[in-house]
Amino acid sequence: MPIELTPKLESIGPLSQLFQQFIVYVSEHGAENIPRDLHVDVIFLTLLTATLIWFKRKGSGSKDASGNERKTDLLQFLFPKDIYTHQSVRVDLWLWITERVLHPFLGIGVFISIGPATEQLVIGLLEYGFGASPALTSTIAWMLLYSLVTFLCYDFIFFITHYTMHKVPALWAIHKVHHSAEVLTPLTRYREHFVAIPIWAAGGAFSYGFAAGIFGYLFAGDIVEATLLNVSFFAILFGFNGAFRHYHVQFHYPQWLAKWVHSPVMHHVHHSYLKQHWDKNFAAVTSIWDRIFGCLYIPEKDEYTPWGIPPKKQLENKTYWQNMIGPFRDWYRMLNGSYGVSLDKVEIDEKL
Ligand SMILES: [Zn+2]
Ligand SMILES: [Zn+2]
Repeated sequence: MPIELTPKLESIGPLSQLFQQFIVYVSEHGAENIPRDLHVDVIFLTLLTATLIWFKRKGSGSKDASGNERKTDLLQFLFPKDIYTHQSVRVDLWLWITERVLHPFLGIGVFISIGPATEQLVIGLLEYGFGASPALTSTIAWMLLYSLVTFLCYDFIFFITHYTMHKVPALWAIHKVHHSAEVLTPLTRYREHFVAIPIWAAGGAFSYGFAAGIFGYLFAGDIVEATLLNVSFFAILFGFNGAFRHYHVQFHYPQWLAKWVHSPVMHHVHHSYLKQHWDKNFAAVTSIWDRIFGCLYIPEKDEYTPWGIPPKKQLENKTYWQNMIGPFRDWYRMLNGSYGVSLDKVEIDEKL
């Protein structure tokens, strides 16, 4: 009688099955989980740009772990030891791993339910208001316009979501985890508390669904976004912009351009705990919404930007676990009345 070598699948318990499915998911989607900002092309472009800045400024133009400008050799300029050995970088890494593990459960479900629902709602409203779809024919120009509208919708929803997260104390308790980074590295972009995952996913899904609804109606569903080398037209801009704005090298744009598009160094300001930098530069890419809402701040060359939250608050948001329990701790304090809503701002006044 032959010996059965293959274990019978049906003899595996439900927990093991779940675990197996998880392993398959991670191995299939591992590459997708590497953030766009950390792909080789974006990292190469980031280092190349930083090297050009190093040459142009003769070694000046980068910041140290305390947010002060300093002059260094090229290696220290690109990979400063005081920044990459900082505790904050290890916390970035663990928070990112946590976010990646929980993302399939907290983000994707929200995205796939809100995105198509928004799209259908917009199409339904347009049909109700203007009759059946005009079924236009798609051209490259229309595809570019579709990309642009999607991009502007996303940029606006990102701004509003981010603005609200700073202004509403219960949401600031969540977003504070992003701001408790004491140094900036490209991975800091992904430093978020897992409770923030469905919030950002809902904002993204709503904006993509809104644009898809408008263009789906106009073209009876027969349109796709313009792409460059199979990458969505604005994905490259997002990737590079996202990576560099959480890099310690100061990349300024000319004043006229910075009024329209956020330069990476403008996000250094957003991460500074100085009073004059508080609640400034919320944008993802364009400066349009910050200008309209009066919170645009274009920094001077070598402007001091100490990163993190005010020092007293920082003490309770340094480690991974402090950040993980942070929102729940703050919400508990809000409920029992021991949370000073404006405490963060008062502490900055005291410090200066
Ligand atoms: Zn913020
Ligand atoms: Zn940031």
